[in-house]
Amino acid sequence: MRLSASLIPTLKETPADAQIASHRLMLRAGLVRQMASGIYAWLPAGHRVLTKIAQIVREEQDAAGVQELLMPTIQSAELWRESGRYDAYGKEMLRITDRHERELLYGPTNEEMITAIMRDSVRSYRDLPQMLYHIQWKFRDEVRPRFGVLRGREFLMKDAYSFDLDYAGALIAYKKMMLAYMRTFQRIGVTAIPMRADTGQIGGDLSHEFHVLAPTGESGVFYDSAFEAGDARGAGDLDAFYEQMTTIYAATDEKHDLNAWAAIPDERKREGRGIEVGQIFYFGKKYSETMDFGVIGPDGAKIFPEMGSYGIGVSRLVGAIIEARHDEAGIIWPDAVAPFRAAILNLRQGDAATGAICEALHDKLGADALYDDRDERAGAKFAEADLMGHPWQIIVGPRGAANGQVELKRRATGERADLSVEDALARILG
Ligand code: ATP
Ligand code: MG
Repeated sequence: MRLSASLIPTLKETPADAQIASHRLMLRAGLVRQMASGIYAWLPAGHRVLTKIAQIVREEQDAAGVQELLMPTIQSAELWRESGRYDAYGKEMLRITDRHERELLYGPTNEEMITAIMRDSVRSYRDLPQMLYHIQWKFRDEVRPRFGVLRGREFLMKDAYSFDLDYAGALIAYKKMMLAYMRTFQRIGVTAIPMRADTGQIGGDLSHEFHVLAPTGESGVFYDSAFEAGDARGAGDLDAFYEQMTTIYAATDEKHDLNAWAAIPDERKREGRGIEVGQIFYFGKKYSETMDFGVIGPDGAKIFPEMGSYGIGVSRLVGAIIEARHDEAGIIWPDAVAPFRAAILNLRQGDAATGAICEALHDKLGADALYDDRDERAGAKFAEADLMGHPWQIIVGPRGAANGQVELKRRATGERADLSVEDALARILG
């Protein structure tokens, strides 16, 4: 992509109303624009990040055997009256009336709808277990939308739902999902720690929140440093993985257990703040019973399925990654989700030698490279590339170009090397 022909409206000034780094940087790097309180447009570079994150989430859900579907954003109030949550949910729910005076709502989550879909389609115990997910926009009329996409009103969520015949089955679904989440966050390039958590609006008995550590996080968190060492990564079998995840201490302030905490050696105690990027719940028959979704069991008796639900804040992750990975100069994207893997900086636009090398690089790297072909000072190009946070910068100046050389800079470490065009490409693609 050529920067001269792209809509990437970067800002030199720091936006006055943005309180935290990720919000400032998302505006300055031209990723998003606010359209109304807590409602954002994703501009091309931001949309690329969102799409890459969603794709990793999708691949790991698919790998865990979860089936993708797509449910609508608008739901009928009737559905929510069945579960009793229409009145319980409160002002966070955006309620809408259509021209026929029918009551609708913009979905804040989808437990009722997926239960209704299953009730319509599934009759026998032989049809279970099942796991389903979608990646869809949600609306919650938050009291205080803030911190940009971290607490928006409209936001993108991956929400999955599991249906099992008994508790043992539901627990397997819960464990599979926890493993899928750890793999997802690892691939995205952030450390997220699973913590025992309260169940809140969704209800239920067992729940974990996944937190990305950042000083600006809204939750207080307490955890064992074993999570930092990366030994908690989930190799081996599912039960061993789950055992490890749930025996190493980690809890949000709401679930903090002072006795368990006291048992951890002082040098391993970590206290900090976290951003909740995902949460998983087991809640048993709460929805299957209230909404009368039963299947016929082997002996002809009706079984109400055991359910769980599993969310990832796809749009919140964009902000959380930036909170965890930035410096004075700008964003430091992990390779897997950067809007562009590499920027090509032509330091002398109009020069035949630099131009030829940049064009060749641009051809080779394709759509995952951003070619800064603007007629701008070198200093301005450096500053913008650092701000946008491309993992690699290929700096093409007239002196090197005369010898077929470029300078390759790694954004995360600041390391630089003079290399031939081929060697630079091999490093980036390797
Ligand atoms: P919070 O406690 O932050 O309000 P929640 O616990 O109400 O979130 P869940 O119902 O668990 O949210 O939703 C699943 C995921 O969706 C959350 O883990 C979070 O990553 C994301 N999410 C929830 N609310 C928002 C929001 N207002 N803006 C952006 N992402 C959100
Ligand atoms: Mg939550």
